[in-house]
Amino acid sequence: MADFSDLTLDVAKLRRDFPILDREVHGKPLVYLDNAATSQTPRQVIEVFDDYYGRYNANIHRGLHTLADEATAAFEGTRETVRAFLNAADHREIVFTRGTTEAINLVANSWGRANLKAGDEVLISRLEHHSNIVPWQLLAGELGFTIKVIPVDERGALDLAAYRDLFTERTKLVAVNHISNAFGTVNPVAEMARVAHEHGARILVDGAQAAPHQAIDVQAIGADFYAFSGHKVYGPTGVGVLYGRAELLEAMPPWQGGGEMIKTVSLEAPTTFADIPHKFEAGTPAIAEVIALGRALQWVGDIGLPLIGAWEARLLEHATEGVAGIEGLRILGTAPEKAGVLSFVVDGAHSQDIGLLIDQLGVAIRTGHHCAQPLLSWFGVDATCRASFAAYNTPEEIDVFIEGLDRVVGMLR
Ligand code: PLP
Repeated sequence: MADFSDLTLDVAKLRRDFPILDREVHGKPLVYLDNAATSQTPRQVIEVFDDYYGRYNANIHRGLHTLADEATAAFEGTRETVRAFLNAADHREIVFTRGTTEAINLVANSWGRANLKAGDEVLISRLEHHSNIVPWQLLAGELGFTIKVIPVDERGALDLAAYRDLFTERTKLVAVNHISNAFGTVNPVAEMARVAHEHGARILVDGAQAAPHQAIDVQAIGADFYAFSGHKVYGPTGVGVLYGRAELLEAMPPWQGGGEMIKTVSLEAPTTFADIPHKFEAGTPAIAEVIALGRALQWVGDIGLPLIGAWEARLLEHATEGVAGIEGLRILGTAPEKAGVLSFVVDGAHSQDIGLLIDQLGVAIRTGHHCAQPLLSWFGVDATCRASFAAYNTPEEIDVFIEGLDRVVGMLR
């Protein structure tokens, strides 16, 4: 069994922050191992909603009254919290979106439309989530550029030599995830950014799976764009972040039009636009969610991402050892650098059946294609079971999962 004794994480104390972890499912204590889809929310974050709607609910930026001032201060304060979380150089580089998906669509529709044309090339990887594939396919269909795919090896690691060979003078953008949601592969994005920049290309990093598990430094990575979602990092749904280097955001045209993103609107002369980041935040944003995201990032910061990452690595080690004894089980994704994701198939047992039966034991795992169909089909499967870990998971929960899995597989095979 993996040894947790050197880690200072007080998991019992930390779990008390999560009311949902006390509930039962089918009469059994909940064991929540679907964190790569959505992590659970600590009460400190839940309380933000009561506080906001109970005390200072108001539209931001335009108001001159006290409530509007307070809401604006809390909203803009979160921009600074996110800047620090990503180690961005300037809070103006932080754009609030609905999530990673919207952040990538923003880059595609604004930067992409302004900078890509027929004959250009965009590199994505086989590891991508559909949200970092489909926006580029939609745009390529309109503009006529080519999408080239960085291959993976049999472990689910990107082939870096092949990556370097894909570049031509027509390569304009690399769009790659930091950590794969389907397999947990951690990609060497700083090295990939260096290579992209050597060839004069930009790099967008989809950080949806990295933000909850390791400290992010967009400057050290050299990311031109970096995206993540609130609901995967102990925050609420409906909010996410696009980081973009200031000079790029400044040069980009607006994407959505409306209130908040303008300087002046005239029916007789061209409309002028707000400065970044507000140029990209049309309409009333998810104010309470943004403020709650800030609280979630503080919660994460109080524990410390290096400790969270180390804890999850130990959980992964424990789970990987535990499932090794289950007959017919094959792990997909065995890259040397892996985050807390265990994806597997079992000969003679459908992933969906495993997911449904293990839920009866109170254990929540995800089954399906994980929005990564190109990756799964390359590995010859259309679904896997995926257990994914968070700071509040315990070795005992992993034991319940493994015993449950063993039982379920025994019933199905
Ligand atoms: N990218 C990755 C790697 C993901 O894991 C996910 C969600 O699972 C997304 C993008 C999309 O995130 P959202 O649905 O929050 O926009």
